[in-house]
Amino acid sequence: MTTAATSAVGSLRALLAAGVTTYSFEFFPPKTAAGERTLWDAVRRIEGVAPAFVSVTYGAGGSSRDRTVAVTRRIAAETTLRPVAHLTAVGHSVAELRHIIGQYADAGIRDVLALRGDPPGDPRGPWTPHPDGLRHAVQLVELVRASGDFSIGVAAFPERHPRSPDWESDIRHFVAKCRAGADYAITQMFFDAEDYLRLRDRVSAAGCDTPIIPEIMPATDVRQIARFAGLSNARFPRDLAERLEAARDDPEAAQRIGVDHATALAARLLAEGAPGLHYITLNRSTATLDIHRNLTERPAHARHDR
Ligand code: FAD
Repeated sequence: MTTAATSAVGSLRALLAAGVTTYSFEFFPPKTAAGERTLWDAVRRIEGVAPAFVSVTYGAGGSSRDRTVAVTRRIAAETTLRPVAHLTAVGHSVAELRHIIGQYADAGIRDVLALRGDPPGDPRGPWTPHPDGLRHAVQLVELVRASGDFSIGVAAFPERHPRSPDWESDIRHFVAKCRAGADYAITQMFFDAEDYLRLRDRVSAAGCDTPIIPEIMPATDVRQIARFAGLSNARFPRDLAERLEAARDDPEAAQRIGVDHATALAARLLAEGAPGLHYITLNRSTATLDIHRNLTERPAHARHDR
């Protein structure tokens, strides 16, 4: 298995097609000057492990969106990292989406994660497309594809998208995104490897071999759990919740528990042939870098042993 430590050359599409294992890290655009410093400190530390790419989430509203574009462009201009720009269809006309895609192209960014997004305010509320906008992510994939030579990623859901009435339609619409030109997918966070493996099997049974990169979220604080469930619908393992609860007042122990659990999950996924790992950093580097080092710096015989 080849690993993509240094991979700023070649398109992401080509890397994945070549079977390179991609390690990547996700950030969000900070709101404050202090948040900005924390982010850039994390970016610089993560740059040291030469990931295949880093990505920046797309905000729900105006100023946060401008910050997404600014952070993504700054990563392209000032670091050796390959930034993947998240983009959603929420509240945008097609003309506005074209303009943002153009801003990315202008900054030399050739990688877009094309998402539909959720209604602002209440992510579970009714989804109303912009009158001159797009209804589903598949249309954004088509728009980005028609806009230039981009590598395009899409979202995948190991526990099924919360709005999908059944697995059949969930997989059908996922495969449509791939056929429309997605080069790879990144999953929603999950905590049980079986959910990822079942999704991959379903997609494969539908005749689609688009690489699906699992998202890894280290759970290092029991107070995060309710938030995870609210944001992502992910089922949280009871034993992990209990261990984190027991370490509620011991941040170092809680960090170790979260890192160990995520390392074991990630090792299993790689052993099962996952094409890479996409780590959620929450703009902090310590936990995700610990997991990454556990996976890549331990001797090969010790990696998949949990
Ligand atoms: P779609 O693929 O459009 O799917 C949404 C629902 O519609 C699914 O149930 C699907 O089955 C259904 N559907 C699709 N096409 C059709 C059709 N033609 N007819 C009928 N039904 C259809 N959100 C943000 O706001 N910013 C981010 O930066 C962000 N980053 C993310 C990164 C990852 C890795 C993931 C997994 C999610 C991210 N999200 C982000 C959340 C995402 O925008 C939401 O989960 C959203 O609800 C679904 O987006 P999608 O691109 O999968 O939409």
